[in-house]
Amino acid sequence: PLVLGIETSCDETGVALVRGNELLVDAVASSMEEHARYGGIIPEVASRAHLEAMIPTIQKAIGEADVDLSEVDAVAVTAGPGLVGPLTIGASAAKALSIGLNKPLYGVNHVIAHACVDQLVDGPLPERAMALVVSGGHSSLLMVNDIATDVTELGSTLDDAAGEAFDKVGRLLGLPYPGGPHIDRLAREGDPTAIRFPRGLTAAKDQAKHAYDFSFSGLKTAVARWVEARTDAGQVIPVHDVAASFAEAVADVLTAKTIAACHKHGVDTLVIGGGFSANSQLREMAAKRCAEAGIDLRIPPIRYCTDNGAMIAALGSAVLRAGVAPSSLDIPVDSSMPLTTITV
Ligand code: ATP
Ligand code: MG
Ligand code: FE
Repeated sequence: PLVLGIETSCDETGVALVRGNELLVDAVASSMEEHARYGGIIPEVASRAHLEAMIPTIQKAIGEADVDLSEVDAVAVTAGPGLVGPLTIGASAAKALSIGLNKPLYGVNHVIAHACVDQLVDGPLPERAMALVVSGGHSSLLMVNDIATDVTELGSTLDDAAGEAFDKVGRLLGLPYPGGPHIDRLAREGDPTAIRFPRGLTAAKDQAKHAYDFSFSGLKTAVARWVEARTDAGQVIPVHDVAASFAEAVADVLTAKTIAACHKHGVDTLVIGGGFSANSQLREMAAKRCAEAGIDLRIPPIRYCTDNGAMIAALGSAVLRAGVAPSSLDIPVDSSMPLTTITV
């Protein structure tokens, strides 16, 4: 079956077509350039940009795939989590298509879709897999028993997401927004062992309750204090070493907790998704530690890790094949959709 997926949870308008686990086309328009001027995502600006980009992006996808809209068997759309205004615009477009084509509509979970997109690249996920979804808005560890029907949340960040922490540290180092990719670039020329920054929630006292939760706000504050102290003393800030040591701390905690969860649950496949999985230090450390632990690591190429329509079409395709009941046409978008809710 041919599934059209629409993503509008944040600043990307994504439309894609998927047949089974085969991606036919993935069209994306982004309003990030507009937000960069403000140093953060402005929901109202994002909503307007989605409204303007929606029809052209649908037309682009349909045109490039060389299919007719009437061939679409189902429509999938992000129902949450995300920004309410942007989500509503995507849902409205998906409802209109569903009614116009008289085809089922599936409102799906954006975070689970970040893990599901890997199926388009690396083939079907095994029966049980661990998923680490890390982005600007999320850092969550999910136990995937069945991507279409059974996902449980083992842990999430208690404060900042990994990408968010990078963006905040980027701001304090005077880097442009979003700071994540800039810190990554600087870190490659720094010494990751130069400064020992704290690893949040890894102390023995935290382990009982928060074995698989993350916390990056203390780390961010530690970086700020370190930089302030040197600045006050009139010293030059070794930005490469700060970036490398900070990125090392984030990658260390993410990979250590994720691999511990794999061992605990007897899982030997790990999929990492979300925009932050572009991070070089996370990729390298995950590859090294998974190889040592005998875990099969799957990370899709970066263009599928950032927000896109392909991930939504992939999850729509998975739930359709699993025989999950379609959503009702009045699907409520949910800005804080629980990570265990796969479809609404
Ligand atoms: P969500 O998926 O949670 O709704 P989002 O749209 O903010 O949120 P993505 O677009 O998937 O998330 O990811 C963007 C985030 O990833 C930003 O915080 C950005 O700084 C970060 N990021 C992107 N590339 C890198 C990199 N190479 N190193 C570190 N961080 C990065
Ligand atoms: Mg984004
Ligand atoms: Fe996302």
